[in-house]
Amino acid sequence: MSELKLCQGSRCHTYNTKDRLKGIKDNKTYQTRRRSSFYYGNNNFCSLNCQNDWFNDFGDKAINHFGRLTEPKHLTEDNAWYKTYDWNSNDDTVYVYRNGITKEERPLTKAQYDDTNYTLNERG
Ligand SMILES: [Zn+2]
Repeated sequence: MSELKLCQGSRCHTYNTKDRLKGIKDNKTYQTRRRSSFYYGNNNFCSLNCQNDWFNDFGDKAINHFGRLTEPKHLTEDNAWYKTYDWNSNDDTVYVYRNGITKEERPLTKAQYDDTNYTLNERG
């Protein structure tokens, strides 16, 4: 069995649901949820509530730390490439890089499609 993760929600333990009540008989406390995986926030939060709590508490700091946008980004031909797929007449999946502006398409292998490090162009 894989290691249990803790929900990163800063107020997870304050929601007094039955499943959060843990401990020995007369010494139970509401605790942060532990699960093998979570559905929210890239596998870090047990609920959208917990994800929102975290963002409300730390979102500004995180944005400032990683760089707050100070001017709008522009979609140009250079950064408009994105991965997508379609089906051909034989019902085979066809993976392509498609340019959101020019609509040009370039073929991709399934491995290239799945490889998050493989990029034709970065979205800037
Ligand atoms: Zn939580």
